[in-house]
Amino acid sequence: MPPRLTIKSLPQIFAALLLTILSGSFAEAKGSQLEEAVALYNARNYAAATTAFRNCIQAGENSPGAWLYLGHSYLGKGQIPYAMEAYITVTERFADSTEATVARNCLIKLDPKNSTAYIAAKLGSLAEPGKPDRGFVDRVRVHRALPGHPRVCQATVNAVMKAIASLPPQINTYLCDGKATLTIAPNITDPWPGSGDGIKPTDPSSTMGEEEARTYGRDCYIYERPKKRGAEILLKRYSEERIIGSVYHEIGHAVDDIGGYSGKTEFSKLHAADLSTISAEEKRKHSYYLDPGEAFAETIRSLVQEINKDDSYSDPMVDKMTGVRQYVKKLFRL
Ligand SMILES: [Zn+2]
Repeated sequence: MPPRLTIKSLPQIFAALLLTILSGSFAEAKGSQLEEAVALYNARNYAAATTAFRNCIQAGENSPGAWLYLGHSYLGKGQIPYAMEAYITVTERFADSTEATVARNCLIKLDPKNSTAYIAAKLGSLAEPGKPDRGFVDRVRVHRALPGHPRVCQATVNAVMKAIASLPPQINTYLCDGKATLTIAPNITDPWPGSGDGIKPTDPSSTMGEEEARTYGRDCYIYERPKKRGAEILLKRYSEERIIGSVYHEIGHAVDDIGGYSGKTEFSKLHAADLSTISAEEKRKHSYYLDPGEAFAETIRSLVQEINKDDSYSDPMVDKMTGVRQYVKKLFRL
């Protein structure tokens, strides 16, 4: 009878597999964030390695190797559901890669009885195969829930679909042409396991698990519920209005990523001019808008809500940003 695999022995077993796989794809990553993450993993500092790999992926290193390593790092920490989540991501997003074969083997070793069923629980795409193209809504996916989390409700999916259906057609087309995506998940910890108790970089008083949404490049994530601090418990769903507002705001970030608008000189000048008309007190209170990317995203949200005569969220700061507002209006003929 072969020796029973224990959690402790798994990382060592996979380390041998990894060496052969990763020497190719990561060979050029010298001195990079990724190389540092690999070094942490090799030093068996699995806690730091999970954070480092997650940061790499969130910064755009969306490679099968990075996801596979993230899974191995979770495994090293003994967080099996998180490890499985990362392995499933490799098998789904990079189905034909060598890493996917390793990830499938890891899943089978971790859960010999149920892994096939687990693998079959694919991300739910809202696209309807064989049906006519419906624009950006076809680029929406519903993320599965981690074990113990409630799955995304139909009411949330409906709210997101309602928001997308009310987008001006030119924005809808722009998002599709730019290959933007939108994922609905129960919480940030479902697509990004283990990240929920991290402190929010822009607001030290709140955690990542309390965020309603976040966009990486042009990939938007909408979260249905906040997570209780320090526990794997998800709380009450956000209201439909808040979800719709989040969709508009995050789409603003995706649009900005596609066009690079908030980084353009013309935008910077208008943004600075608008800010110069706002009192220091107000700027302190709404420091959010000092970031050009946030100002752009909020302006898109505000303009789309205005078009839809949706006054569920009125924002005095956006109204004062007249230069930025005119710029975005003209850009998309809003
Ligand atoms: Zn934002």
